[in-house]
Amino acid sequence: MPRRLTGFTPSGDLHLGNYIGAIAPIISQQATTDTVVFISDLHALTLDHDPAKVRRRTLEFATMLLAAGADPQACLFLVQSHVPEHTELHYLLECTTGYGEAQRMIQFKEKAARQQQVRMSLLTYPILMAADILLYDTDEVPVGEDQRQHVELARDVAQRFNTRYGPTFTVPRAVNPPIAARIMDLASPGDKMSKSASSAAGTLCLLDEPQVLRRKVMRAVTDTGSQVTYDPAHKPGVSNLLTILAACTGEEPSRLAGRFDRYGELKEAVADAVVTTLAPVRERYLELACDPRHVRTALRTGADHAHELAGRKMRQVKAAIGLLPG
Ligand code: AMP
Repeated sequence: MPRRLTGFTPSGDLHLGNYIGAIAPIISQQATTDTVVFISDLHALTLDHDPAKVRRRTLEFATMLLAAGADPQACLFLVQSHVPEHTELHYLLECTTGYGEAQRMIQFKEKAARQQQVRMSLLTYPILMAADILLYDTDEVPVGEDQRQHVELARDVAQRFNTRYGPTFTVPRAVNPPIAARIMDLASPGDKMSKSASSAAGTLCLLDEPQVLRRKVMRAVTDTGSQVTYDPAHKPGVSNLLTILAACTGEEPSRLAGRFDRYGELKEAVADAVVTTLAPVRERYLELACDPRHVRTALRTGADHAHELAGRKMRQVKAAIGLLPG
């Protein structure tokens, strides 16, 4: 069974893109795939952050993943900072990565250009990401285009380490999320729906009340003309709505297009489908949020298990790189 790893950075509110692109596939595949799911709280510290918000969101994300159906019995479920081996391996992998390699990362260049003060961790976080991946001998990392370069870096670092110090790491590969995975901002359909960049009006947050979800869908930007066709290049707004409907119903976007004569009808159907998909998750979230101890226990069990696996891997890595056992 291949091992697949997905991380969620608690740097903004979880949204429909996260749900369709990452959370739903985890839930549907956790019985047949060796799954690692973690909240990458350390990655939230690479840009300006509010400590209280990071802490609150970390618990919120864990609660949401459980509410959506992540089963801690079936997958390894943890918070990154609860397993100190992530940062321990990070340093050893820094000793295997060139400065030029880190500096070439497009995400670093783009994010650094928007900052007045660039944190050192913004430069090195792809190496922490490599540590997250390699620590668990991950085979597959489902990522969008923006993170592909980081998985490539993890591959290069793993191969270099294995060549220099002997076979130690599984070499991971990036895999594409499901076809309907790229959900765009409803108010600006040229941009990906995202925790940080997108607009509040264009982002369907998993904790939005049903009437808020409905309102956002009904106000979604559509395209000129009035025909409902699936054509992402020329009709990005309508195509995004069809993609969302397809993801919620399991049907094909182009086939769905034929069922609607007007944009308004399509929006009504999308609003219904989004509410039907997300309302039960939100309700379960609200129930679980009343009992944070349950979530904490799941996280503690996950961290203990991860610590065991990661500890074994670290002993192997330290021996290979030349550290004297303590
Ligand atoms: P992030 O929000 O960047 O921490 O991403 C967490 C996970 O959600 C990753 O696996 C992403 O590929 C996925 N994801 C984020 N935004 C979208 C989107 N707009 N459409 C589909 N998947 C997404």
